[in-house]
Amino acid sequence: MTTSATRESPVAARRRSLAALATGTFDLLVIGGGINGAGIARDAVLRGLTVALVDKGDFASGTSSKSTKLVHGGLRYLEQGHVRLVFESVNERARLTRLAPHLVRPLEFLLPSYRGDRPGLFVMDCGLWIYDALSGFSSPKMHRTYRRGRVAKMEPALRQDGLRGGIVYYDCATDDARLTIENIIDAQAHGAVTLNHVRAVRLMKDGDRFVGAEVQEGPHGALIPVRAKVVINATGPWCDELRQLYGAAPILGPTKGVHLIVDAKRLPLGRALLVKEKKRVVFLIPWGARSVIGTTDTFYTGNPEDAQADRADIDYLLAVGNHYFPESKLVVDDVLATYSGLRPLLRPPNGEEASSVSREHHLESAPGLVTIAGGKLTTYRVMASEVVDRAGEQLGNDKPSVTGERPLPGAIGGAKEIENLYSTLVEGRRCEYPDEKGPALARHLTDTYGVRAIHPVRRIAADPALRERIDPELPYVFAEVDLAVEDELALHIADVLERRIPLLLRSRDQGLAAAPRVADRMGALLGWDAARRELELDRYRATVAATRRYRA
Ligand code: FAD
Repeated sequence: MTTSATRESPVAARRRSLAALATGTFDLLVIGGGINGAGIARDAVLRGLTVALVDKGDFASGTSSKSTKLVHGGLRYLEQGHVRLVFESVNERARLTRLAPHLVRPLEFLLPSYRGDRPGLFVMDCGLWIYDALSGFSSPKMHRTYRRGRVAKMEPALRQDGLRGGIVYYDCATDDARLTIENIIDAQAHGAVTLNHVRAVRLMKDGDRFVGAEVQEGPHGALIPVRAKVVINATGPWCDELRQLYGAAPILGPTKGVHLIVDAKRLPLGRALLVKEKKRVVFLIPWGARSVIGTTDTFYTGNPEDAQADRADIDYLLAVGNHYFPESKLVVDDVLATYSGLRPLLRPPNGEEASSVSREHHLESAPGLVTIAGGKLTTYRVMASEVVDRAGEQLGNDKPSVTGERPLPGAIGGAKEIENLYSTLVEGRRCEYPDEKGPALARHLTDTYGVRAIHPVRRIAADPALRERIDPELPYVFAEVDLAVEDELALHIADVLERRIPLLLRSRDQGLAAAPRVADRMGALLGWDAARRELELDRYRATVAATRRYRA
């Protein structure tokens, strides 16, 4: 274990990684550090392959931090007849609750049923029996059907008019960005060279065979040739952009999905809800002091960088919220934050509706190149192992994937070890908020980091000031900023405040008031001068402004 005295500085570590890219030949070069790329890098390095991974932005800065944050089978996919996808998803759900219990935890859902709804309560009940059965009855709990009166008691603010009853069932919630980042840091711990903010700008070929890519740090960085026996295109919604670099035809028909976040007091939810919206479903999900409504699903043809919520998206989601919770009377001013992502789906046949397009993934191989597109966060581990199998065929490596039994770094020792750490912290009173006695900080850290919570705790032991909350309303503390920079490869303010400590989504002002102090802390660790600090703050303010574009 390195201590702060012996730990390599994040700046030196990055310099070393950049130098490593240019030297030697890797078995795999993974382009894209979303959940797919991260899962692929981890799977491959654990099979003994040499791996480099680059992302043009931060890890998980694409779709993998913009999902509904569910690890689920997808009831809707069952209705659409995608039984194989549901089967695989509910089984992965069970596996991930074992391999990452701190990141994948049970979430109770209510599926209300109203007069005239199709399918009705009885058919939905049958569907849920199939859903539970497909998982081998491994759901966190079996579903139950309730009559109107009981549902009304469970969710007093829910629309009563026409209510017939409802079904309570269980799926799982996750932190999509953290799930991605834990895959990255585990890949790195096992020898992968993983770099964010490095873009692949050209693919290199030797005859018909792909042999690597030229990559660049920032718009003005030197071009670095990275040689690899197999290149993986895991660029999600940017898949076609990369394909264009070598003249391949486009395959994607992305759809945009928007979520909005309001104060939980304005939309009080006892549990998550799945509600019908014409042929679609919309989720209303409690998230601590906040409630989330999402998502939209509309075809998108613009630049993936520009996918943001517009006014029509917000009006649609508020209307759904108000329809089911009429007393809330939500208005645009209630929206604290929005986030928008693109589903990297295969281009559908003409005339298909966005919500009906298959969520199944697609693999394609060429000499020295494997491409993955589509799929779900939930099944990333299975998809990653398939991609590495495909690459293995070209590498002559048939070692099987080991990720099916191997916990993510925060879960080494399992859920029991996480609870042991929590008890030790509570008994030793080693991490409490300075202004309140009790286990809340220990709970927050072990819930977020699992056994990796020991790292912020050690930082707090060395400097008790790091127990201070970054935002008085939210549980995050300054020790987590240090962890994000030193152990989780954060380089810019949004890397910290959007994905690792998501004030952009959860704070009342999207982290604007906290950003200068976060910049001070990051600047001290990353060697920023005053001009760089201002530049970084401007950049963060621009990120916030983009999510508020619908207000214009
Ligand atoms: P991304 O996460 O987008 O990663 C691609 C990465 O490639 C990006 O980080 C990008 O910066 C990088 N990149 C692009 N070009 C380059 C380049 N030239 N050089 C270097 N890097 C590059 N699934 C679920 O299971 N549960 C859910 O609840 C769920 N909800 C969803 C809700 C919405 C609104 C959406 C849009 C999707 C949802 N999904 C869900 C699906 C899931 O989020 C995606 O399938 C998954 O995140 C895609 O991951 P990815 O790695 O393929 O793409």
